[in-house]
Amino acid sequence: MNLAEWLVRTARRHPDRPALFSGEDPVATYGDFARHAAQIGAGLRARAGVLPGDRVAIFMKNSPAYLELLYGIWFCGAVAVPINAKLHPREAAFIIADSGSRVVFVAGAGELGALLPSGCVLHDFETAPAFEPGGDALASPVPRRAEDLAWLFYTSGTTGKPKGVMLSNANLHAMTYAYFVDVDDVLAEDAAVYAAPLSHGAGLYNFMHVLRGARHVVPASGGFDASELCALAPRLGNVTMFAAPTMINRLMAVARRTGYAGEGLRTIVYGGGPMYVADIEAATELFGARFVQIYGQGESPMTLTALSRGDIMDRAHPRWRERLASVGRAQSCVRIRIVGPEGEDKATGEIGEIIAAGSPVMQGYWNNEDATAQSLRDGWLWTGDMGSLDEDGYLTLRDRSKDVIISGGTNIYPREVEEALLTHPGVAEVSVIGRVSAEWGEEVVAIIVPAGPEAPSEAELDAHCRTQIASFKRPKAYVFEPELPKNNYGKVLKTELRARFGGG
Ligand code: AMP
Repeated sequence: MNLAEWLVRTARRHPDRPALFSGEDPVATYGDFARHAAQIGAGLRARAGVLPGDRVAIFMKNSPAYLELLYGIWFCGAVAVPINAKLHPREAAFIIADSGSRVVFVAGAGELGALLPSGCVLHDFETAPAFEPGGDALASPVPRRAEDLAWLFYTSGTTGKPKGVMLSNANLHAMTYAYFVDVDDVLAEDAAVYAAPLSHGAGLYNFMHVLRGARHVVPASGGFDASELCALAPRLGNVTMFAAPTMINRLMAVARRTGYAGEGLRTIVYGGGPMYVADIEAATELFGARFVQIYGQGESPMTLTALSRGDIMDRAHPRWRERLASVGRAQSCVRIRIVGPEGEDKATGEIGEIIAAGSPVMQGYWNNEDATAQSLRDGWLWTGDMGSLDEDGYLTLRDRSKDVIISGGTNIYPREVEEALLTHPGVAEVSVIGRVSAEWGEEVVAIIVPAGPEAPSEAELDAHCRTQIASFKRPKAYVFEPELPKNNYGKVLKTELRARFGGG
């Protein structure tokens, strides 16, 4: 079924309900939203000859129009290719060419115009509207089958070129239903605030809110600004949002300064990168029971596991701290196993690669059979993440398999060392990597962003580690840096740190 059906049905039931907001200002009702999408669909077909299955890219910052474009693309049966607005125009051009997009929507063409492959039409919002007011509209969404592609999701590419993850209608349906079962309910009164890029997790979470006829809000800044959000949330009320852990940390910094205590926030779903125990504990102390964690990847969008609100608040269970450090249990639509290199199952508690199977798992990588064959084997998605399952099914992530440090033949998981160092008050951020060592193969190096003007001494950090982790896991060296290199989604670029500090 075409995803645009959901919008059409909600619009039929609640045509006058405000749907899209710029900050606090309503800019479109559900009736408008569906009509604009039908007009965009008609325009794509009439003016650019877009046929069902063709790809249409969006390379824009978050805006209410972004959602209308997504649904316009689906309306005419095309496949959306949302591109992170922070990418360099060259990187965007690569994705446009790789996906074979017929049209790309931008707000200001910039350098991209000159870089576009031939055959791709650039539609610039700044010079032409996406639809003619009162112009032709498609009568209903073009029928699509469950297995037809809906979204080409380009991976963030912390290494190598981004790959296009092929997500079908069925994959996105499964993700949406699992949200209601495993993550959170959505109420008609809710306001989904898109502070993280719509091209990624935040955008994937629009569907639940369309189904329930909730509000969709793009902050006036078009992105994440912690002060803006603390002011906006109490005025909107019932805010739900997807946030990367770094965003929660920034929200906490503002809350500590201003006394903001989460007013107006209903649910923050966090994930996409490690949230350290010290940080989530602090977040619940400041804001209370407002958090749910998910672990997913483009290849199984938002749907590998969830750590519930109840688990995050629980301080009575004998293993509550381990659970808080985990990413929760498998969502209802996937099976998860922990395996060795040959696919052999690991025992409870043992670390191996996380593999998953189920209805949200991608169809493969666009035009990339080698990468597909590596990731999808016998119906299982090899996530590239290492982890272990406990007896209750809670999954603890260790690290990406390529980030594991092998020192003297023993595996050291950087995450564990990072967790230990983060409990030191002098450490604001840390990333741990392996450095080439003649004696050990690799040795542990910690790159630290100090919390204050004065960095803690190495001796002090070493003593701190001794109280937290096995002696052999302690860093052999510390590097102090003003910040860590991160990609456009806020993920630390360990590859870059290894290139700078890893020797070899
Ligand atoms: P992406 O496909 O760009 O969303 O990246 C997915 C990767 O982010 C996963 O394979 C994990 O390595 C990491 N990740 C996602 N969610 C979490 C989480 N809750 N905790 C730690 N790492 C996560």
